[in-house]
Amino acid sequence: MAKALDSFLEENLQQLKSQGLYNEIDVVEGANGPEIQINGKRLINLSSNNYLGLATNQELKEVAKRAIDQYGVGAGAVRTINGTLDLHDQLEAKIAEFKGTEAAISYQSGFNCNMAAISAVMGKDDCILSDQLNHASIIDGCRLSKAHIVAYTHSDMDDLRKKAREAVESGRYKKIMVITDGVFSMDGDLAKLPDIVEIAKEFDLITYVDDAHGSGVTGKGRGTVKHFGLEKDIDFQIGTLSKAIGVVGGYVAGKRKLIDWLKVRSRPFLFSTAVPPGDVAAIIAAINMLMDSNELTEKLWENGNYFKEGLKQLGFDIGNSETPITPCIIGEEKLTQRFSKRLLEEGVYAKAIVYPTVPRGTGRIRNMPTAGHSKAMLDKALSIFEKVGRELGVI
Ligand SMILES: *Cc1c(COP(=O)(O)O)cnc(C)c1O
Repeated sequence: MAKALDSFLEENLQQLKSQGLYNEIDVVEGANGPEIQINGKRLINLSSNNYLGLATNQELKEVAKRAIDQYGVGAGAVRTINGTLDLHDQLEAKIAEFKGTEAAISYQSGFNCNMAAISAVMGKDDCILSDQLNHASIIDGCRLSKAHIVAYTHSDMDDLRKKAREAVESGRYKKIMVITDGVFSMDGDLAKLPDIVEIAKEFDLITYVDDAHGSGVTGKGRGTVKHFGLEKDIDFQIGTLSKAIGVVGGYVAGKRKLIDWLKVRSRPFLFSTAVPPGDVAAIIAAINMLMDSNELTEKLWENGNYFKEGLKQLGFDIGNSETPITPCIIGEEKLTQRFSKRLLEEGVYAKAIVYPTVPRGTGRIRNMPTAGHSKAMLDKALSIFEKVGRELGVI
């Protein structure tokens, strides 16, 4: 190893470890369901994005197996050579139907989708107004575009309006985009989309909503844009197929013209192999399930509300979540890590989220109750939170 690399790694790893910021990776032995096994221990799982339990759904597993038998395990090429199987076309039509848009394009992941879509449209003569708490993939996607990036204070509409006006009045930009998460994943709050749309109309902003945590959850499962009834007003509706949908992938839903452009200009679509057929078939079946019935989404909200209420009653600070995402804010990084470790020893897997994922001093245990949890599991988890909370002086 080059000396420069060796000393860089040594120094930086040591620094992270001494600050309690080094994340040890846990290995799950088996399926990522409502209960998981790690190091031979059964744990109640409050850390997956498997909101509706679809990642482990029996019917979807059967659908994926049948598609593998018919098509094989890989798509064989990038989408623009000959990796577009009829399944991919069906998937994109299904996503458009689900989202209420003219068309859709799918990608290999949500992260990838933000790399692809922003830079396909925005360039160095453009400006992006970006919520300060946007997901890492949005931040990276914006940087890749080489557009001028202006962060606005989280969900502060006065600040957004002010920065939009400044961008327009500067006369420097050909296009201006406002970009936001639909659901902010660390706090569970919703973007103020009606206000954002109003400001966008006032200043002719392109609107881009990444609703990775919204689909299958908000808007009776159709997402945050639908929740606010703004399907006609958002140019880019981004989603992931790896959270509530339970498989893998990402997408943009929007006008036909936009999707046509992305199909010829978004680089991960052109230069990276398509999602495998087993996954695509399972995703189509998962979206069909959501379109047929609200049952799983309702169960998710029921469990989310039950768990939130339980933590609140115990005296924990659960922030201002408007979704089933339930942060339990502890504060200091090392205490947060210790809290999570004690939960693990007692039988609950709930991950500590600390700086740099969230601001310093706002370390939290982020709980993701799902439709797959039983009341008994949630009750047991609450009693363990109570025990650890008292032991560590948090409540
Ligand atoms: C999780 C997430 C992504 C990444 O999605 P993947 O499909 O896991 O790559 C992108 N954007 C937001 C807002 C997310 O929460």
